Order: sequence, then C-alpha cells, then structure tokens
Amino acid sequence: MATLKVAVKPAAAPMKVAQISKPGADFEIVDREIPEPGAREVRIKVQACGVCHSDVLTKEGIWPGIQYPRIPGHEVAGVVDELGAGVSEWNKGQRVGVGWHGGHDGTCRECRRGDFRNCRNVKVCGINYDGGYQQYMLAPAEALAAIPETLRDVDAAPLLCAGITTYNALRHSGALPGDLVAVQGIGGLGHLGIQFANKFGYKVAAIGRGSENAPLAKKLGASLYIDSQSTNAAEALQKLGGAQVILATAPSSKAMSALIDGLGPNGKLMVIGATFDPIEVTPIQLITGSRTIQGWAAGTPADSEDTLRFAELTGVRPMIETYPLEKAGDAYARMMSGKAQFRVVLTM
Ligand SMILES: [Zn+2]
Ligand SMILES: [Zn+2]
Repeated sequence: MATLKVAVKPAAAPMKVAQISKPGADFEIVDREIPEPGAREVRIKVQACGVCHSDVLTKEGIWPGIQYPRIPGHEVAGVVDELGAGVSEWNKGQRVGVGWHGGHDGTCRECRRGDFRNCRNVKVCGINYDGGYQQYMLAPAEALAAIPETLRDVDAAPLLCAGITTYNALRHSGALPGDLVAVQGIGGLGHLGIQFANKFGYKVAAIGRGSENAPLAKKLGASLYIDSQSTNAAEALQKLGGAQVILATAPSSKAMSALIDGLGPNGKLMVIGATFDPIEVTPIQLITGSRTIQGWAAGTPADSEDTLRFAELTGVRPMIETYPLEKAGDAYARMMSGKAQFRVVLTM
C-alpha cells in the first residue's frame, strides 16, 4: 500500500502591524498572519512608510465608513513579495511604492475618460484597506508605482504623498520657467514644494511665519524669503510683480486668504494644505486680474512614478526623521506635534 502523503499547510508566519482598533484609539502593535494576495493583488514586503497628517482620518475615524481594526499608512515603499492571480505587470523582488491613490475601478465615467485620479470608487491606502504601518501589506496591482534604483526607501516613502502632491500641483499650475511662484509654509509639504519649484525653474518666494526658517528656505532653493509675521506678504509679492502661482501648503485658511492679493494677473492660488475652515475671498479679488483658486489632491500611481523619477534626476529629497514600526505611536505623536523636521518615516 502506497504511503499516503498528506499535504500539511505550514502554520502561517506572523508579522508585526501597528493598528487602530477603533476611532480615537491609540496605536497597538499586534501579530497578524502574513496575508495572501487575492486576484489582481500584490503582496509588498514593506521597508518604510511615511507618517502623514492625513493618517488622522484613520486614527480618529474622520473618514466615513472605515472598518476597524485598520492599519494606516499611504506612503509605502517596499518590495514585491508575492503576486496574486492575474498580475503580470509586476515581478517579485521589484521595488514599488503605494501612495494615497490606492486603486481605481477602471469602469466608472471618470476612469473610462482616463481620469483615474477622480475615480468615483477610488480606494485610499490605509483607509479602504490596510496600509503601510505593517511588515507586509496587500495592494491592488493598479495602485503600485515603481521606485527608481538610486532612491532610498525612506526617501521614496514621503515622496508618495507629500512629494507627489507638491510636484503634481506645481506642474499642473500653469506656471512657466522664470515665473514668480510663492510657496506658503515651510513644513512637510512646503519644504518639498520649494525644492520642486526651484528645479522647475521658477523664481521661488518662500513664505513663512517668523525669520527662523529663512536660511533653510534659501538652502532648499528659494530665491527670497518673506516673513509673513513682520511683513504684509501679499504686498511683498505685488512689489515683485505679483505671483503667477501661490502654492498654499500650510493648513491655515486665514493665511491663504491673506495671500490672494499677492497674485499677479491670471495668477492662481493652488491649495493643497487641507483644512475644514473656509477661505475668504471677494468676487472683486477674483475678477480683478482674472485670478483663480484651485485645489489639488495627490495623483495617480503613474504620477507617483513621475515624481520619483524627477526626484532621482534632480536630487529633490525629503528631510526625514525615522522611527521603528514598534514606535508607531511615538512617530504619529511627533508628526502631530508639528515639530518634526519635516517628514516622519517608519522603518520595518
Ligand atoms: Zn498623505
Ligand atoms: Zn473609476
């Protein structure tokens, strides 16, 4: 009688994750089984994940319909570890990232027009499914962006949200090389915005509160620094002919409103600093000089690849503080304190 061979499935190996068990709860470090990718999914061995202010949506349950426990994180850099059925465009061992845009359906009206960024059923990494605060994660194949060879994981991670947001907003702002572009706020977004604006060939005016950030702003590529506490920044911009674009990164609607008069003819206030307070503007301010106010959110995985390649090419890099995954709570608190210089990144 032949020996009966019984296939024994090995016990699934555990991994460490930093999860939120309910809205408002603290981070807890727990073991979970390493997940298996389903059809059209990829498993990523996470190497680094940025801690973004938008993670507050998951931490505090502000985004509607989040299912808990949930693992935040939408600035994910790692390596393709396993492919689900039907995935032929990625290879095991390939370095990839996932940003805010965590997948699209490909079938809604916007997707059929090629406008994946505005997909009606867009999935957000770390909100609609578990994000990068863990050792292994699953992502839809269409959410991945390739990471260029010479870019470190800890540098690529923040570029997948803070980076793409500033890069994409600027390159779609209409500003041309040589134009005066102001970057309001020298923080997580602003310090990248200044660098990209400089590499795009703009004349960059950095606007910050107080004089202490002036040397850093110049080092990052600003040709001038405007201290909005000691000077009227809008008037200062008008003395220079008016800004073609003001990239508003600091989440202060009051500060943004105060800058609108600094726009030149056909100037645009490009809003990326997220807040719930209203921006104040009069119709006269907009009609005079045909000014516009526009908002911008991140971009597609293809936009992420553009961002990463441009950063590799030009030397744009985030300034980071790293924490191990086990210290996710401390890392998040540091980010929320507003004192980080400038992006907090978890390493696995
Ligand atoms: Zn983000
Ligand atoms: Zn869609």
